[in-house]
Amino acid sequence: MKSISCTLKNTYIGKFDYDCDVLAAINEFCHNNDINSGWFSIIGAVKTSCLGFYNQEDKKYTVKKFDEPMEIVSCSGNISIKDGKPFAHMHIVLSDESGCAFGGHVMHGTIVFAGEFIIQSYEGEKLVRGLDGQTGLPLWQNL
Ligand code: ZN
Repeated sequence: MKSISCTLKNTYIGKFDYDCDVLAAINEFCHNNDINSGWFSIIGAVKTSCLGFYNQEDKKYTVKKFDEPMEIVSCSGNISIKDGKPFAHMHIVLSDESGCAFGGHVMHGTIVFAGEFIIQSYEGEKLVRGLDGQTGLPLWQNL
């Protein structure tokens, strides 16, 4: 394992606008607040969702779209730099009306009905993503 050391800079607690794309909203918030390194947690509900599953052999995401309201049981992720901009890597667990849960890697198209977030921003060394040849994923390159 490899790591960097950083310290807590700020904590933001807030809510999402109705009907926003959760991934775009987090990325925009980080850009507007100069958050280049951080961690976040979200709970609430979505109107639709778009989840990815990374196929390790094909090195491509399989994407599934769900056009139904669901609860955000848990959603968390980290913020680092990709292509020179803040980039949120977000995973989510959703539940349907029957209480069945499933989840995945959040893609654009996951639309908020209501959502509350906590973001912790860090200062110190920055984490920068770049293409990893072994996995085909944009992993942290400076570790
Ligand atoms: Zn992921």
